[in-house]
Amino acid sequence: MFGCARVVYNDCLHLRDQCHAAGQKVTDTEVQRRVITLAKATPERAWLGEVSSVALIQACNDARRAYQNWFDSLAGRRKGRKIRHPRPRRKHGRQSIRLTRNGFALHGARLYVARIGDVPVRWSRPLPSQPSSVTVIREPDGRYYASFVVERAAAPLTACDREVGIDLGLVSLVATSDGELIANPRLLRAKERKLARAQRSLSRKQKGSASRAKARRRVAVVHRKVREARLDHAHKLALRLVRDNQAIYAEDLCVSGLVRTRLARSVSDAGWSQLVRLIEEKAARYGRTFAKIGRFEPTSQACSACGVKDGPKPLDVRAWQCAACGAVHDRDINAAKNILAAGRADRLNARGAGVRPPSLVAAGAEAGTHRSAA
Ligand SMILES: [Zn+2]
Repeated sequence: MFGCARVVYNDCLHLRDQCHAAGQKVTDTEVQRRVITLAKATPERAWLGEVSSVALIQACNDARRAYQNWFDSLAGRRKGRKIRHPRPRRKHGRQSIRLTRNGFALHGARLYVARIGDVPVRWSRPLPSQPSSVTVIREPDGRYYASFVVERAAAPLTACDREVGIDLGLVSLVATSDGELIANPRLLRAKERKLARAQRSLSRKQKGSASRAKARRRVAVVHRKVREARLDHAHKLALRLVRDNQAIYAEDLCVSGLVRTRLARSVSDAGWSQLVRLIEEKAARYGRTFAKIGRFEPTSQACSACGVKDGPKPLDVRAWQCAACGAVHDRDINAAKNILAAGRADRLNARGAGVRPPSLVAAGAEAGTHRSAA
């Protein structure tokens, strides 16, 4: 089923590319008809008939979405970094199929997948509602996951009057305006040697051999452990920030712009975007406010006590004294205080005018470099 969905996805991309190159318009229905219905009738793709068509249709939809995103990005209709042409799905690596209501069912504790049958599941938690769809994933380390789309009621916490600004950094993962520095668990680096060893071992194995497959799995396992530990830490940190504060403000960082610089390893290691996403989700769930300050602010240059801009400072300057008022600042905590002030100002503005202020999100290059220039 994974293989069929992958082939259909790739055929969709190929067909759309061909039509695009020939200057032909092709409707979504026509794409689906050609890569599924007509393809099934050919000897090369006859095996598509052996699996549930629900997964194939979803693969078609995924390819359409990927193609649309790429087009929107080209036309400048999409925020964020430019995205590239969708890549074909590969046989190695993560595999997934998506099934809507008519492609799966729950039989007690088992998951019924159309044309596959009942699959035993080790549930991580009870489902809060009837799932509307399920994604079955096979990770490169050989583990299978079922991820359900469910509806969950919001669970607002009792209101409190604390607000916090957070600065996402490299030295500390998070600095808060309350003066707290939360360490960055440099998990990837700590396990890097282990990972490097596993990867070296993989590169020495002969292509197509059984030992290569084994070595590849070992690399995938180390990756998974790092990923899980990082996610766990991010969940706990996000929950703590959301529970303790009524509003949380953060900078609108164009993380992807930074990732390509020499800071790449540390940045992806820190997992900023993951953390921000979790804070956003938890804030929505618990009735808290999360806002990104939607404009470029030189938060690490201005003194949070008197507001005087002290000029850019190299990244290795961790603490400084304001020449105007004499206040001594930790670089990141000072930035967090400025973020809190900017976030509050945005909020008051929005309330006063009755509308949200136009958010002038910093352009990728600006946002991507201002931290190292600041
Ligand atoms: Zn000052």
